[in-house]
Amino acid sequence: MTDTIAVIGAGQMGNGIAHVFAQAGYPVTMIDVSADALAKGRGTIEKNMDRQVKKGTLDAAAKDAALARLTEATDLAAVAGATLVIEAATENADLKARIFRDLDRLAAPGAILATNTSSISITTIAAVTKRPEHVIGMHFMNPVPVMQLVEVIRGLATSDATTTRVLELSRAVGKTPVEVSDYPGFVANRILMPMINEAIQCLMEGVGSAEAIDTVMKLGMNHPMGPLALADLIGLDTCLSILEVLHTGLGDPKYRPSPLLRKYVAAGWLGRKSGRGFYAYGS
Ligand code: NAD
Repeated sequence: MTDTIAVIGAGQMGNGIAHVFAQAGYPVTMIDVSADALAKGRGTIEKNMDRQVKKGTLDAAAKDAALARLTEATDLAAVAGATLVIEAATENADLKARIFRDLDRLAAPGAILATNTSSISITTIAAVTKRPEHVIGMHFMNPVPVMQLVEVIRGLATSDATTTRVLELSRAVGKTPVEVSDYPGFVANRILMPMINEAIQCLMEGVGSAEAIDTVMKLGMNHPMGPLALADLIGLDTCLSILEVLHTGLGDPKYRPSPLLRKYVAAGWLGRKSGRGFYAYGS
């Protein structure tokens, strides 16, 4: 196995991506500006692998081997040995532009630079580098170890070779990749976020309680989770950023973020990760 992976960001998506690559046999370095986030990320991977061992889907020796393949770093220069870098830092266009400028300088010349962005243009991110043909979207779903899909997004300049390699690597970690084009929100969030936003509008207008809205969608539409519980899982700050991208990028007022979503984010009620969103979560 020749590939070596670096994951930027050890938050809920970053540690999930590191988990699946380490479990599939790849050496993985997880990089975050926060040492605390790295420790928490590793702790989450251990806990999730323990759960797999208990369920009998992973044996204890394989878990130990996977964890031994996983290292952490706070310095972005640790990407130097990677053949595939997957960026999963906070959803913010300026931050991602800064990270990709640095990655272009620090990563090996032929390395693929992928981003797990939910909505930011792959073409725009690629344009800050001198290797846009090696930049691609690799959009994993949450929780990464459980969800099958990887949305693979080609920027305008992404090469066929980069796309083929990323499709192969997605399959090698047991996922099903689907190739889509670079338009705001791609496919997953173009369809999901307006539904979540509408559920938040229903809550704001008092059409139903959070529980009522989620129960209608679970029992009525056979969704495994209601839209408000799902928004809490994704993170309300992330939902707001994605809606802003859809609103600005497509220019249609139907994508405007609900004022109630803005209010929750302003209050720091970000969902599960902050302990409170549309529901309260024990710590
Ligand atoms: P998160 O807030 O859980 O984690 C983000 C991490 O990035 C934090 O640990 C933070 O310390 C780190 N970070 C910030 N700046 C950094 C930098 N300069 N270098 C390295 N690390 C840095 O966020 P998340 O939910 O894991 O989302 C990460 C990315 O994945 C976003 O682009 C998001 O849109 C995307 N995404 C999220 C979901 C979801 O359901 N939450 C699903 C698919 C994709």
